Amino acid sequence: MNDSKQRAQKIRKLLNTYSHEYHVLDAPTVEDAVYDSLFQELKAIESQYPELVVPESTTQRVGGVPAAAFSKFEHSQPMMSLQDCFSDDEAQAWITRIKKIDSSVATTEFWVDSKKDGLACALHYQDGVLIRAVTRGDGKVGEVVTANVRTIQSIPLRLLGDHTFTKGYTEVRGEILIYKEDFEALNAQKKLKGEVLYANPRNLAAGTIRQLDPKLVAERPLKFHGYDVLRSTATEVPTNSYAYEAMRELGFITGTVAHKEHDLDNVLRYAHEFSEKRETLPYITDGLVVKIDNRELQKTLGSVGKNPRGAIAYKYPAEQATTVVRDIVIHLGRTGAATPVAVFEPVAVAGTTVKHASLHNADEIARKDIRIGDTVVIYKAGDIIPQVESVVIELRPKGAKRFNMEHVLKQQYPDEIFERAGNEVVYRMKNTNGIQLLKRSLQHFASKSALDIHTLGAKNVAALVDAGLVADLADTFTLTTAQLVALDRFADVSATKLVEAIQSKKNPPLDRFLFGLGIRHVGAQTAIDLAKVFHNLDNLGTASFKDVQAIEGVGTIVAESIMLWFEDEANQALLAKFRKLQVWPRDIKVASGKLNNRKFVVTGTLLSMSRDEAAQRIKDLGGTFQATLSKDTDVLVVGKNVGSSKLAKAAKYGTTQIDETEFKGLIV
Ligand code: NAD
Repeated sequence: MNDSKQRAQKIRKLLNTYSHEYHVLDAPTVEDAVYDSLFQELKAIESQYPELVVPESTTQRVGGVPAAAFSKFEHSQPMMSLQDCFSDDEAQAWITRIKKIDSSVATTEFWVDSKKDGLACALHYQDGVLIRAVTRGDGKVGEVVTANVRTIQSIPLRLLGDHTFTKGYTEVRGEILIYKEDFEALNAQKKLKGEVLYANPRNLAAGTIRQLDPKLVAERPLKFHGYDVLRSTATEVPTNSYAYEAMRELGFITGTVAHKEHDLDNVLRYAHEFSEKRETLPYITDGLVVKIDNRELQKTLGSVGKNPRGAIAYKYPAEQATTVVRDIVIHLGRTGAATPVAVFEPVAVAGTTVKHASLHNADEIARKDIRIGDTVVIYKAGDIIPQVESVVIELRPKGAKRFNMEHVLKQQYPDEIFERAGNEVVYRMKNTNGIQLLKRSLQHFASKSALDIHTLGAKNVAALVDAGLVADLADTFTLTTAQLVALDRFADVSATKLVEAIQSKKNPPLDRFLFGLGIRHVGAQTAIDLAKVFHNLDNLGTASFKDVQAIEGVGTIVAESIMLWFEDEANQALLAKFRKLQVWPRDIKVASGKLNNRKFVVTGTLLSMSRDEAAQRIKDLGGTFQATLSKDTDVLVVGKNVGSSKLAKAAKYGTTQIDETEFKGLIV
């Protein structure tokens, strides 16, 4: 709790600074996604500890304070923010929440429009004449910018037509924007003059409206898009569709996106469609605004904090996010190169959950000054590979730990020596190279506790690798007798034997295959534990960190290592190759599970199968195979040539004894 409180305080302070830069100075120093990401985190902490919610929190405030240079005006109704929503699930959760307040939400219709990225402004008309324009300000009080707004060509100074809204008091709310094309043209001129370029259209629009000289404003091609109409009697605007219709009649631009959808499914379908279409619009939009169409219902739903309950901003996955570095571990590549990898608090970036990112090398970590415990900005390079862009220094906790590559190498690989050759930034395993590592991993893959490929021992492995016949584990399965006999070591018989031995292991038990892959920290027992829970390799490959970590006997370190292994592109390619060669571990059949929770010991010689095969079958059916008889053994399988002491012990413990025929009956 104390940690969360401190972090909430720090984030709040930082967000207030960002907000001031963005809303008041019109000069943001970070991307919106970074702001949004920290905002979401603050909201999550506050919802866990509601006592932390304070009025000055960014989650409770709209926009920035009105600038002193302009006179101020209190809005007739607050100009609110919108609750962000980044996925279909969050949109569904919104509906579930508000249905509890008013069940008629279940059959309500929705009004959908693009979320325009500009400056919100309220235009006040008396008997059809523009008398005042007020910015959103802090949501309650805004800045009077009438003279500047009058220069915007798309704002009617007198409302058009003879709509009833041209009589009495009418307020039209909307967004002041600069179109992308105009923004680029303005920046092109600046570039020619060698001046500093404008950061983005939103801040240019906002900055322009706050100019003190209306002549300067008139030179900028600002546009106004209406999105709301208020009348003194609320029933005059029964729906949002009606508001848009009225705005069009009165002479406002409302854009080409706004329309009604009959239910949430259709809203979401449109939202997916719009994710690509939005790029073709003349203005920047990062999502959709979805409102309950019926204004009476919208009113009943009320608001929570600074957001109305009856509307959301459906935003598209951001390309950037912030997260915390939980650890930095070392990933050893196939060539012996050691790469430091950041382990994150999982975070969504551009539509996928990011848990790790390569930090490349120790120099890069030092250059960016990334420490364990730091909050970092991450992004996806080329839309796929996550990268750390920078550290949010303001959020560094006291105990943030510097990363010492050499120290961690020693800890993780106590028996190996690493070195940096010449000017290289990368640490590599000494006295080894790709070939030696490959030999080592192939030997392990073929070993008795892994795939148990007879006659593929150290010498044969060395011969195959040295001859260039095997470049990875999967290549083993492509070997032919002809290739082998061409080598000095093999004659016809031994070559055929080896190929047959290899081919007979194309569908090994899952735990043995897993163990054979040589994933760091995954020993034979861990492999069994994993196989029992995940049943097949795909399940494990797509499992979440949490699920893996939750397994008994698998801790954080093992889970991290498994995650890293499956995320490694070279390993993914290896698995794809295995699959193509139809080399794939057998699924563990859980359906029957008929030996569930029963413990077996096999003693003596079985005639129809090896002891290993019997053990495998027991495990496949959910039972436990024990090496020695103990009090908790349930069944003793008695083969040929069994010493009497074993049987006496079983009798003493009251263990059920069965012979091979009975055992075979059990495992069919
Ligand atoms: P919001 O996301 O809460 O949305 C509300 C606003 O959406 C309204 O005021 C309105 O102006 C606008 N809007 C646009 N199109 C609309 C439509 N069709 N219908 C209704 N409303 C529409 O906006 P906010 O509270 O102004 O600010 C939050 C945004 O500002 C976030 O996206 C955040 O990333 C950004 N921000 C960035 C920084 C930074 O430092 N980069 C700092 C603060 C805020």
